[in-house]
Amino acid sequence: MKDITCKLLVIGSGPGGYVCAIRAGQLGIDTVIVEAQKPGGTCLNVGCIPSKAIIHAAEEYEIALHHAAGTSPLGISAGAPKLDFRKTIAWKDGVVSRLNGGVAGLLKKARVKVVQGWAVFRDGKTVAVDTETGVQVIRAETIVIATGSAPVELPFLKFEGDVISSTGALALADVPRRLAVVGGGYIGLELGIAFAKLGSKVTVVEALPRILATYDAELTRPVAKRLGELGVIVLTGAKAKGLSAKGDALLVEDAGGGDQKIAADKVLVTVGRKPLTEGWGLEEIDLAMNGRFIRIDDQCRTSMRGVYAIGDVTGEPMLAHRAMAQGEMVAEIVAGHKRSWDKRCIPAICFTDPEVVSAGLSPEEAKAAAPEIKVGQFPFQANARAMTKVAEDGFIRIVARADNHVVLGIQAVGQGVSELSTAFGLAIEMGARLEDVAGTIHAHPTQGEGFQEAALKALGHALHI
Ligand code: FAD
Repeated sequence: MKDITCKLLVIGSGPGGYVCAIRAGQLGIDTVIVEAQKPGGTCLNVGCIPSKAIIHAAEEYEIALHHAAGTSPLGISAGAPKLDFRKTIAWKDGVVSRLNGGVAGLLKKARVKVVQGWAVFRDGKTVAVDTETGVQVIRAETIVIATGSAPVELPFLKFEGDVISSTGALALADVPRRLAVVGGGYIGLELGIAFAKLGSKVTVVEALPRILATYDAELTRPVAKRLGELGVIVLTGAKAKGLSAKGDALLVEDAGGGDQKIAADKVLVTVGRKPLTEGWGLEEIDLAMNGRFIRIDDQCRTSMRGVYAIGDVTGEPMLAHRAMAQGEMVAEIVAGHKRSWDKRCIPAICFTDPEVVSAGLSPEEAKAAAPEIKVGQFPFQANARAMTKVAEDGFIRIVARADNHVVLGIQAVGQGVSELSTAFGLAIEMGARLEDVAGTIHAHPTQGEGFQEAALKALGHALHI
């Protein structure tokens, strides 16, 4: 097979890699992207997108169950809904496959050459790709590593049989009758809540004292409450120890040191993700590391000249939009533009019920970063739109410096607040002050008005509370 020579080679077509390749193509850079699986990476194929599709289907089903039970306050009733889960999965697969096609189309439009297969470094400028038709050697002036991440496996709960990762959970043929979830982070809770709504009896086992431990307790309290309403049992301070001899139960040491046996048809292990740094010849190029991750500077340059790294393989937060922003930046740097990482915040969302959003600093983090802070919090109980949606649980909170009122952080918990993350990110990125948010006309009636009210509250004159 004839060697390929190009200016830019991107390894991995997840959100980091494909965005980098598209932008490079748009800038006229001769670009090749290598992908071992389908375009779109973890996010599109086994992450963000399929999980949100299942979450949406579960929400719809739960609403229909309320209507059937006559418990809807809206006066709507209906017959018992039926769930054809295989059809749900087929619909989810259809969404994923349309998006696979979309990414492939965008790469083609940007004139990016796609090579299908597993890439392994030979040296800092050469990669060998194991393709269906043989080994393809690619030589490039610049290489971007965007190999992403993989689920962490516990040695005593290997991913096999009824022990599944998030990837397995998104491909189940049936809704498990009893589901044990090990790990109460966002992935475990998003999927655990969805399966509880679809009819599974769910137990969440979390080693730390509370769920969603990276968010502050006040923000996650409505999620804990909702888990209770959905009948999800949450064991905090508890350690999973392995499967029972018969393989039909999860063995757990609870917070009090006692042994518990949680009967389960499937055990979903979501204890984190690890950067994918093996199997592609990292040892050949001997890059400097930052713990488990590839070390990068503020331009995503690694320790080797001409080799960049982006996305989950480079560190936390392991989120698709961070990978995309790095990908876009690196493409522009390769094209000669003056760019460096100057983002003020990377919003994070838990698509739980209710949803949780955090952009910038929490009150605790802000206290460490500024001499004095102001905090304004507005509850959805006082928001008209939330009332019309039966979505009064939750709040929006804004954190600012006390001296100049520059907004440092914004958090929210409530139904549908994921969509507010864009406004929160924009405010922080543009260096908004409390007065900017308070002085912006927010359309009525929207949950977003709670953002304006939170800013007014921090300034001492909220109007609707
Ligand atoms: P990846 O998306 O992991 O892509 C890496 C790609 O590289 C893969 O396609 C892989 O096949 C390919 N590859 C690796 N090595 C090679 C090689 N040697 N040769 C060829 N190809 C190779 N993030 C969010 O922001 N929002 C969410 O709602 C969200 N939900 C999630 C839900 C779940 C269940 C999971 C598992 C993750 C979720 N994430 C979410 C995280 C998100 O998926 C990742 O942050 C994102 O995909 C990282 O992008 P990436 O480009 O770094 O790598």
